[in-house]
Amino acid sequence: MKITKTLRTLAAAGLAILALSATAQERELNIYSARHYASDEALYAAFTQSTGIPIRRIDADDAAVLARLKSEGSASPADVVLLVDASRLWRAEVDGLFQPVASKQLDARIPASLRGKDGGEGSQWFGFSTRARVIVYNKASVERTDVDTYAKLADPVNKGKVCTRSGSHPYNLSLFGAQLEHMGEAKTRAWLAGLVANMARAPKGGDTDQIRAVASGECQVAVTNSYYLARLMRSTKPEDRAVVEKIAMVFPDQADWGTHVNIAGGAVARHAKHHAEAVRFLEYLASDDAQRHFADGNNEWPAVKGIRIANPALDAMGPFKADTLPVSVIGMNQVKVQRLLDEVGYK
Ligand code: FE
Repeated sequence: MKITKTLRTLAAAGLAILALSATAQERELNIYSARHYASDEALYAAFTQSTGIPIRRIDADDAAVLARLKSEGSASPADVVLLVDASRLWRAEVDGLFQPVASKQLDARIPASLRGKDGGEGSQWFGFSTRARVIVYNKASVERTDVDTYAKLADPVNKGKVCTRSGSHPYNLSLFGAQLEHMGEAKTRAWLAGLVANMARAPKGGDTDQIRAVASGECQVAVTNSYYLARLMRSTKPEDRAVVEKIAMVFPDQADWGTHVNIAGGAVARHAKHHAEAVRFLEYLASDDAQRHFADGNNEWPAVKGIRIANPALDAMGPFKADTLPVSVIGMNQVKVQRLLDEVGYK
């Protein structure tokens, strides 16, 4: 009798603890983020301020976020996953790390070409901001007309002039994945081989390192995500000003299918414990305020159409024709692209 009573008391206490933690769960959101931009702190703070939902965030690079989600499995506390590349988002979806999101707001505001799967309702991931992969060149030594398409990066006229970060970095996998979709496998392989033949140095460093190398003359032409360039353009540091003085940029393929555009995006984690809060956060990222933040804070373009932004660097770059290839298709091509890179020896 006594034991039963004790058990009952314990059970009641356990239920009370469960109830407590359920209440606590409603009041928080766990984000695994690969966004690596200090200006985002304001974004998270604004969400917490307007909703009262505290955010716990784990920051890591894309690969580490995915590895962690996989190793944690159903025990993962992750509710929202933020990644900065279409190929990574696609990979995570294929690996079963996300779940479909039903949100009229997201469906209405995020263009279909910037969503996962077929871009239809119930997509598993959404692009919230876009970045263009632009070409930067040394004004003193390069003619703009020699570098105004991605194809020309592999032209013999640019022999010994090109530098890039690693070919298998997601930003390049996505660019090459878009080229593969447009040109087919044989042409893309030849193009990548031409790029390797034109390298001024073995691939190393990040995008900003390539821009600096163009300015210093170590190489003459490079590709970079637009926000790294915009960051330098807005910098007041004398060494950054000096870099910007020496270079010019071009949006490639304006006469053709347009400049390759990638996304930073987000999804609800497969095993999210705070599903409603997670969807609410994604909807917040599509709000006018958050969309403006991506532009003004991190020099990205809003994914939502018609958002007015005030960013002098993005204004200076001017409007451009963006490739409208669905980012999910680009992500899907990364496996083939990696094989081509191996074949042509693009490190
Ligand atoms: Fe980046």
